[in-house]
Amino acid sequence: IGGHAKPQDGPMKPPGVKTILAIGSGKGGVGKSTVSSNLAVALARAGKAVGLLDADIHGPSQPRMFGLTKRPASPDGKTIIPLRAHGVTLMSIGSMLEEGKAAIWRGPMLMGALQQMLMQVEWGDLDTLIVDLPPGTGDVQLSLCQKSQVTGAIVVSTPQDVALLDARKALDAFATLKTPVLGLIENMAVFVCPDCGSEHHIFGHGGVTREAERLGIPLLGQLPIDLETRLAGDAGTPVALGDGPMAQAYAALARRLID
Ligand code: ADP
Repeated sequence: IGGHAKPQDGPMKPPGVKTILAIGSGKGGVGKSTVSSNLAVALARAGKAVGLLDADIHGPSQPRMFGLTKRPASPDGKTIIPLRAHGVTLMSIGSMLEEGKAAIWRGPMLMGALQQMLMQVEWGDLDTLIVDLPPGTGDVQLSLCQKSQVTGAIVVSTPQDVALLDARKALDAFATLKTPVLGLIENMAVFVCPDCGSEHHIFGHGGVTREAERLGIPLLGQLPIDLETRLAGDAGTPVALGDGPMAQAYAALARRLID
């Protein structure tokens, strides 16, 4: 789609977008994209106009999580018509890459792609644009927070020490970039045996809660390891679309963010 836009100065925000919510993590594989997709769906179900910008350059997984295979159209070669599924408007950096090709982009190219996805996509009127960031503290985080008006950031972590260590760095990066951190989400907090109901803390116990307390940051939610979450994500129908306990957990998370 198109060439690479020249990065411009000054904070960017798509014209009809009220708030930009960045979702980051220190490590990959902690469920940042799963949380982003389900939160987007839960906010949409709560009546909000929601967009999701998948900026995870290393593993853009949102099209799959939303069951989308086609690419967004660009009839005039400039503006991009985003895709729509499950009540959410979606654009993924994966759509700007050749399928199956690794993204080996230098900083300026990444910034150009990010700017295109923010400013050349017809987002329309949105209450919230969720940005699914790549893990870590690289160029995308830097450009997004410096070049656009990010209203707030959420960091997703598992209770595991290595994940927490990296989550701390991500929090530190947001602080340095003066992006307000709205809170932490603990994913894969516990596994409850479906047969006997016993609780197993596979990735450790209470780490994110302690970290949130230590840093004085709200713990926005704790989500268990859940088979349905994984299956629903892979099937392109996020678990938050249903009416089970996970959908309720995401609805509660959405309400916390709306209040
Ligand atoms: P990230 O975006 O942090 O790299 P993903 O959201 O892609 O992580 O999640 C990694 C894998 O873990 C996916 O297969 C996803 O379905 C699964 N997953 C994420 N959260 C959960 C959860 N709470 N319970 C079970 N599986 C999960």
